[in-house]
Amino acid sequence: MKTVTTLEDLQSKILNDRICLDLAEQATQLVMGSGNPQADIVFIGEAPGKKEDESGIPFVGASGKFLNEMLESAGIERDDVYITNIVKYRPPNNRDPTKAEKAAFWPYLLKQLEIIQPKVIVTLGRHSMEAFLPDAKIGEAHGQSHKIPVIFNGVTASDLLVVPLYHPAAALYNGRLRQTLKSDFLNAARKITEY
Ligand code: URA
Repeated sequence: MKTVTTLEDLQSKILNDRICLDLAEQATQLVMGSGNPQADIVFIGEAPGKKEDESGIPFVGASGKFLNEMLESAGIERDDVYITNIVKYRPPNNRDPTKAEKAAFWPYLLKQLEIIQPKVIVTLGRHSMEAFLPDAKIGEAHGQSHKIPVIFNGVTASDLLVVPLYHPAAALYNGRLRQTLKSDFLNAARKITEY
């Protein structure tokens, strides 16, 4: 993907490469991501839902509302961070993305990160956590940060801080998980701003 240098190039490449055509045919549109394309912090969810599919913007439904609340409570502006998903088309009936779909989008997610060059990645839920921390279990790893050496454009850049959090959707209707996610989020925000 040498000729891809902007997020717009990358979007065209995903369309031209006909990634996950079966998903694409059932979706309204590709949901690339939103926010600051030069953000230090990137949030990565699993895949767009109905509202995201309709609007073309990640995390605008009920989970997004909760994510917005947590960002606000941590004093982080949504426009200052970048928000995306591993799989960039809505899976039918909001089913989980498959292994094959996650694998198909993985090189494009890496390219997206190479373009943005963040310092911190916050994974939301098990699917995006497993992409970066394949051996981690969300019940144990949530809220803990991990440093991963990253190679951007063939050069070892620095340690990328990866912070796995529970998915906001999982915590929406579960009071205990909701509290855990809120407190993990605030702790992560503290670590992130110091990194
Ligand atoms: N859940 C996700 O994982 N991503 C979205 O964009 C919306 C809901």
